[in-house]
Amino acid sequence: MEITFYGAAKTTTGSMHLIKVNGHSILLDCGLYQGKRKEAFERNRAFPFNPMTVEKVILSHAHVDHSGNLPNLVKQGFKGEIIATPATCDLCELMLQDTAHLQERDVIFVNKRRIKAGQAPFEPLYTVAEAQSAVKNFSPLNYRTTQEIFPGVKLTFYDAGHIIGSAIVVLDIKTGNVSKRFLFTGDLGQNYMPIINDPEVVQNVDAIVTESTYGDRVHPPLEDVEGRLKGFIDDICQQKSRMIVPAFSVGRTQQLLYSLNELYKKRRIPEIPIYVDSPLSSKVTAVYAKHMECYDKETAAMLAEGSNPLKFKSVKFITEAEESKKLNDAKGPMIIISASGMCEGGRILHHLAHAVGDPRNIILIVGYQAENTLGRRIVERINPIKIFGEEHELRARVHTINALSAHADRNDLLDYFKKMGTEVERAFVVHGEPAQSESLANAMSGIGIRNVIVPSPGDKFSILN
Ligand SMILES: [Zn+2]
Repeated sequence: MEITFYGAAKTTTGSMHLIKVNGHSILLDCGLYQGKRKEAFERNRAFPFNPMTVEKVILSHAHVDHSGNLPNLVKQGFKGEIIATPATCDLCELMLQDTAHLQERDVIFVNKRRIKAGQAPFEPLYTVAEAQSAVKNFSPLNYRTTQEIFPGVKLTFYDAGHIIGSAIVVLDIKTGNVSKRFLFTGDLGQNYMPIINDPEVVQNVDAIVTESTYGDRVHPPLEDVEGRLKGFIDDICQQKSRMIVPAFSVGRTQQLLYSLNELYKKRRIPEIPIYVDSPLSSKVTAVYAKHMECYDKETAAMLAEGSNPLKFKSVKFITEAEESKKLNDAKGPMIIISASGMCEGGRILHHLAHAVGDPRNIILIVGYQAENTLGRRIVERINPIKIFGEEHELRARVHTINALSAHADRNDLLDYFKKMGTEVERAFVVHGEPAQSESLANAMSGIGIRNVIVPSPGDKFSILN
């Protein structure tokens, strides 16, 4: 077997790894690279391999940094199946169209400048129609159901506990008389997170490719989340101001709603309005309602009793753009949860532009902010910040809650590897910035895992032979 790391190598976005096994070519994930606009544009447009030669795609989960370049892969000649869990298939249908929409809008903005400068206009990376067409290649596979995708190559998905539908990808490979097990973590969740299950442990693994988003960090204890949220909410109630929360439409938004619902149920906070201002987040929350097979016992029991932790009295889902704009004039206190999670596009931008200048407001960061994103500049308080090309003084207070992270931290990852057993003979650490990946790689060697490597983009390895 041969593996080449084309994306999410020494970075956290653009997950994409090409496997050649028993004469067949499989792509693991096909994510969008996010970061500086020009670099992202070029990296996403041109694949470092011929898409026509890829026979199947295995998709770990629906987040755009894992799935967002699939329509472009199909557009450039990929004709095979895209295998994913049923919830991932449903989420991707929404998310890829939404991403296409953003790509179309983005290119209009870029082309205005290009035409002014006498340059030829760009085409969008892919259109909404092309995203719809790519969705036709999806082929659902349930958790813990094994499918022989090529002779001697069996695929099984296990729950990664990261977002609904997220999967750990396991390939059982038989070459001649030798059987080996390969595992790709995708993005691994934390234990004890609300709504979804804990990551499932898989044993007898010979080679592993693991994420390392928080490879050098430990999250604060989970019980802090409600206390800290209550503190911020008490503050905005006193100031009659607003709390703006940039959040991924999938996962973070629903976890946040769950925690807010807990606070209301316990009467620890007053009933102030919570606006989920993202058409995508609203639709995604509806997909959550459909896939109860992904829920943990507590959430399933809550729903059975008729209480829905994602849809309660104070929550209002906003879909119309006009209604969204009206929020600018509304009086606080209020909470606005909007996308995108790293503030790279979407309605969150107009909420930030309106709110960042007022020191009474709170910007609450609940997710990982990649390098070179607006979210990262806000976290690092790099003043002034640029939104829609205009400079804004960042006077609002910025707080971060990392415990809501959908990612396992360093200890969770190491615990997971320990539970896997000690058979691992090759390990690759991806999906982290270099410091995080290196730190986790050292710790993995420290617990006895052999041959741990942090690959660079384009690095190719022959393994399990
Ligand atoms: Zn993810």
